[in-house]
Amino acid sequence: MDTVAYKCPNCASPLTFDGASGKMICRACDSRFEPDAVEAMYAAQTGSGIDFDTPDEGYAASDVAQMKAYRCNSCGAELITEGTTTATECPYCGSPTILPDRIEGGIRPELVVPFVISKEEAQRLFEEYFQGKKLLPNIFKKDNQIAEMRKLYVPYWLFDCDADATIVYAAEKRRTERTDDWEIETIEHYIVHRSGTMSFENIPVDGSVKLDNRISESLEPYDLSKAVSFSPSVLSGSLADHADVDAADCEKRAVERVEKSITSAIRSTVSGYTSVSERSKGFSSKGGKVTPVLLPVWLITTVKDGKTYTFAINGQTGKLTCDVPTDKGKAFLWGAGAFAGVMGLGALILHLIKQMGSGTLLIVGLLALIVAFCVVAGLIGQLKQAGAQSGASDYVREGGLNLRQKQDLFLYTKTNRRKIQKQEQ
Ligand SMILES: [Zn+2]
Ligand SMILES: [Zn+2]
Repeated sequence: MDTVAYKCPNCASPLTFDGASGKMICRACDSRFEPDAVEAMYAAQTGSGIDFDTPDEGYAASDVAQMKAYRCNSCGAELITEGTTTATECPYCGSPTILPDRIEGGIRPELVVPFVISKEEAQRLFEEYFQGKKLLPNIFKKDNQIAEMRKLYVPYWLFDCDADATIVYAAEKRRTERTDDWEIETIEHYIVHRSGTMSFENIPVDGSVKLDNRISESLEPYDLSKAVSFSPSVLSGSLADHADVDAADCEKRAVERVEKSITSAIRSTVSGYTSVSERSKGFSSKGGKVTPVLLPVWLITTVKDGKTYTFAINGQTGKLTCDVPTDKGKAFLWGAGAFAGVMGLGALILHLIKQMGSGTLLIVGLLALIVAFCVVAGLIGQLKQAGAQSGASDYVREGGLNLRQKQDLFLYTKTNRRKIQKQEQ
């Protein structure tokens, strides 16, 4: 153990190993620590990070012979389809000026999840969406006839890996005792060391710049067990977007989701402390690979007051999401109405049971505020607005977190005494 690098957790002075006692000692503040605990503080500072082998197989000459490519003159979307399918408009912007293009470069998708939701079903889901949405802005109420439902295969990259994380926490147990004159606070400091692995499978990240990530993540999950191998004929009758964000760029988002999931799984194994804070962490991975796939999406764009809004339906499950905004005026009215209703009822009850007072009214007020908040949150939830996924917990392989290292090591105790100021009666 190289003692030079270790610093006192209490005062940050260098620690030295004392052979006689077998402890690490700090000469500056006269503390002594177990070498195991000091060593554990530095456990997480290794790790090469999470990475993936990215695919590089392009389209075969036989694929290209059976495929057509188009480019949208209006929004720049690059699209591919099967050779006998004629594209008449851009699935993203609806522009009819889409011109034949050459198939150049691009990674060959390995798998395609076929459409299960028919055009009629998608249409019905879209129409149903407009019913009973209290906070939908009025511009969507007037006429929501469907411009066009566009069938689109969106390119995604699926990320797999066995992730490994080591996290070191500084944790405290505090207790306070009182005697007649003194308040004595005892703080026990611990170093908590956890290492574990978690396997992830098929975390999707969309490879299209045209589709907002919040929309594509809100369409999750897809059932990949229903996927078929890619061949140009699978695209017959629909367009596929050419992946224009490469796997290496999408990797960042997958890494974020993996790290978030494993971090929260490991954190949940730390308990029994008054406070816990992360001191350091390190990640590494094995077997990271990326699979290029095409996933089915029904896209609907409508223009209201000069702004384009997107609705998207998962072509396999029928899950709908969109980027419609919340009508803030209506949200306020609903919130205020709920508040006033609960407040009024509460005041009436207090009056009847003769408990009216500033304390009880305050409680009713808080209750009314919570109810108003829940009502508005519930109504906003109806809108199915697109939002990013936080972690990747849906993609954890069976077994979950496999903890390799679980150490809770005592470091030192600190005591604070405070003289209790006696109040004169
Ligand atoms: Zn010290
Ligand atoms: Zn376009």
